[in-house]
Formats: sequence, structure tokens, C-alpha cells
Amino acid sequence: MDISAPLTRPPDLYGRPRSDSFMQKLAAFSDHAVTRLTRRSTPPRRPPATEMPVIRKLVVATKHQEAEDVVSLRLAAPDGGTLPPWQPGAHIELHLPSGRKRQYSLCGDPADRYRYRIAVRRIANGAGGSAEVHDTLGDGVRVAVTGPRNAFPFAAEASILLIAGGIGITPILPMAREAARRGLDWRLVHTGRSRGSMPFAAELAELAAAAPGRV
Ligand SMILES: Cc1cc2nc3c(=O)[nH]c(=O)nc-3n(C[C@H](O)[C@H](O)[C@H](O)COP(=O)(O)OP(=O)(O)OC[C@H]3O[C@@H](n4cnc5c(N)ncnc54)[C@H](O)[C@@H]3O)c2cc1C
Repeated sequence: MDISAPLTRPPDLYGRPRSDSFMQKLAAFSDHAVTRLTRRSTPPRRPPATEMPVIRKLVVATKHQEAEDVVSLRLAAPDGGTLPPWQPGAHIELHLPSGRKRQYSLCGDPADRYRYRIAVRRIANGAGGSAEVHDTLGDGVRVAVTGPRNAFPFAAEASILLIAGGIGITPILPMAREAARRGLDWRLVHTGRSRGSMPFAAELAELAAAAPGRV
């Protein structure tokens, strides 16, 4: 493999170009090695990351308290139209009224083409983005959004262990549902400081009831 060849890597989680050339070459080498080791006749298990599309205005349709310090928002098109499709692992970027931009994983149902659901933990000593979501984005408020973009595509292996900590459940929940839908051999572990701090406990209990021993 010629690791000095020009490299085109997908942007990082924040959509920024990857600038570190050593890390790019290291990543290219590891991609090459993984491709060689896992070559198979079936399509690649990780689809390529999708491009960030245009900015669109969405409206907050509902806002729910999901756990201590965690709210979920359902975002819809102002005209009630369909939204671009997404796959588990995808996120959107909110352009908050202050000008801050923050990324949030989609944690609803990809089959629902009319609503995106996100869940946001308030970071008390953060830079203010999560607090702004909690304090200013209520029902009926419009917010600019880019995406969805997927930098964390679901690797649909036959046997999967999904592990999430706290708010990290957001991209994992749709993956667990997708694994169940595909009939894969999956397990999900969700950890947290306390039950009260863990979002989507009721939905996870439903998943557990439908798939005993997997959650
Ligand atoms: C692809 C992506 C998806 C995300 N999905 C969610 C989500 O579903 N729900 C949610 O509440 N937040 C999510 N985040 C984090 C979110 O974008 C904001 O960083 C968070 O709301 C805190 O913003 P802040 O301005 O309050 O504080 P910030 O100053 O932005 O962050 C506060 C603290 O959170 C840490 N942090 C920021 N991003 C991450 C990350 N991705 N993983 C671990 N720690 C991080 C920072 O290092 C800092 O210590 C995601 C981030 C990315 C890049």
C-alpha cells in the first residue's frame, strides 16, 4: 500500500477536516489493514459517511423531560412535510439562537419521516449550548438545523454488544432497535450514575420485555 498517496478522509464528528497528517496516514493504514482482513463478498459493513446537507428551519413540536437534566425535543418541518431520511448513528447540528452550534444524535425512529427526536443533557459547567437548548427551545420555537450526517454508522455484525453511558444512549437506542429488527444476536448495556439520571428507561424496559435477556 502506498501510504504517501493523497488521502481524502471524512470530516471528524464536528464536520471539521482532519488536519493531522500522521493520524491521517495511520488511519489510512489501519483502514487498509482492516479491509484486507475483513474482505468478503457481501457489501461493506460500514456505509460511507453522508454529506452535511443545507441548513433548514425546523420547529420544536414537543419537549419532554426524559431524566434528571435530560430533555428530548421532537423537531418537525414548519409545513408538516417530510424530513430527509437517516440511519442509526446519525446526528444533526443545531444552530442555536446565540450562534452556538451543537451536535445531537438522532434517537427516534428512522421510519418516522415527520419528526427528528434528540435528547440533550444539561452540562452545568459547559460552554452554554446544552443550557441554551434546555432554557430557550420550547414548543413552537424555530431552530436552524444542518444534517442529518452519519459519522457513526451502525456496524450490523451478526453478534453485537452495544454499550452506552448516560446520555450516550442516544445513538445506541436506534441501533438496538435496528439490531432487533434485523434479527441479529444483540445485547445492550446502559450504565449511569443513578436510575434517575438515565434517559429512556421506559423505552429500554419495553425493549427488554420484547427481547428478554438482551438489555
Ligand atoms: C456527533 C455528536 C453527537 C452528540 N450527541 C449528543 C446527544 O445526543 N446528547 C447530548 O446531550 N450531547 C450530545 N453531544 C454533545 C453536544 O454537542 C454538546 O457538546 C453538549 O450539549 C454540551 O454543550 P455545552 O455547550 O453545554 O458544553 P461543551 O463545552 O460543548 O461541552 C461540555 C462538556 O461535554 C464534553 N463533550 C462535548 N461533546 C462530547 C461528546 N461527543 N462526547 C463526550 N463528551 C463531549 C466536552 O468535552 C465538555 O467537557 C454530541 C456531540 C457530538 C459531536
